[in-house]
Amino acid sequence: NRAFYNYMQDLEGFKSFLSSPKKGVIIPHAKPDGDALGSCLAWYHFLLKKGHEVKVISPTDYPAFLKWMKGQDEVLVYEDGGEAEAEKLVQEAEVVYCLDFNDLKRINGLGELVEKCTAKKVMVDHHQEPTDFADFTFSDTSYAATCEMIYELIVELDGRELVDQDMAEELYAGIMTDTGGFKHSNTTKKTHTITADLIDLKADTAKIGKYIYDANSLDRLRFLGFALSQRLQVLPEYRTAFFAITAEDLKKFNEQTGDTEGFVNYALSMREIVFAAMIIQRKDGIKMSFRSKGTFDASVFAKANFNGGGHKNAAGGISDLEDIEGTVEKFTNLLPAYKEELLNAN
Ligand code: 5GP
Ligand code: MN
Repeated sequence: NRAFYNYMQDLEGFKSFLSSPKKGVIIPHAKPDGDALGSCLAWYHFLLKKGHEVKVISPTDYPAFLKWMKGQDEVLVYEDGGEAEAEKLVQEAEVVYCLDFNDLKRINGLGELVEKCTAKKVMVDHHQEPTDFADFTFSDTSYAATCEMIYELIVELDGRELVDQDMAEELYAGIMTDTGGFKHSNTTKKTHTITADLIDLKADTAKIGKYIYDANSLDRLRFLGFALSQRLQVLPEYRTAFFAITAEDLKKFNEQTGDTEGFVNYALSMREIVFAAMIIQRKDGIKMSFRSKGTFDASVFAKANFNGGGHKNAAGGISDLEDIEGTVEKFTNLLPAYKEELLNAN
């Protein structure tokens, strides 16, 4: 699990770069999760406290279960109306912080703006195979969450005493969600050490757990029940299980951003299953989510077959086919080529 770049190799240069206040924008990946939004907002508060002029721009909207985070109501959403304002901010920025993603393709239309702007680019990320677009690249796949890296950067920049309860809770939320509640194999001693310090910094862990995990709507629970009973398919001969969710299903259950988050983990939770997928028919294409156990590398599978990537045990991608039936067929037809790896996964 070696990092492509040596994490913090640019730290001294970055410190001097940040020593004078800069006008900047902070961007998470599209459909930001707890780690993406939490890291952006904690970094945002830190930079504001240091006298920088910054704004968070999200490529898209994000789940309701993140809407407790301080500063989230000041986030500019690029898609569906924020395009012009975002373009102006990116053009005027001296620095663009790219948090929790490794490729400008992961921020949709904002990617082109960032690519051609004159600002210095900073990447802080823990995904595999970072692309080489940033002036400062902080990339390390041994971190469970970008929030761990932002915590460390803040500490390195002598900012620990600036971490207030809101920031500690945003960072905690990102670590909690990206580790699946401290249960995935990415959870390390460092994860717990950082988390312990966030608790010292007043993160209320029970409160954040409740905000994030006890935030179901009845529609979402009914949708989960439907998906489990009607849309889950199991292929024991490949130790694989997957959901295929249609656009009509999404409509029927009044699906809101974030509602399908976590479904794929139910498929993976079966005893003999080592590979799980969720295939969802979205407006802008068929979105793939992959999860795996142990040695089976979901990110290699996502990259080779679905224009995607991510982490070894959690990855995603997009289908190059337009219909869900065809995508399901493509997915199931790929499995024989991976049979050996799937059967031997541990
Ligand atoms: P999720 O299934 O929760 O959308 O994503 C799981 C992991 O895969 C996340 O770390 C996410 O950043 C990554 N991922 C999701 N979709 C894509 C994609 O389309 N391309 C790439 N490269 N990574 C993705
Ligand atoms: Mn992350």
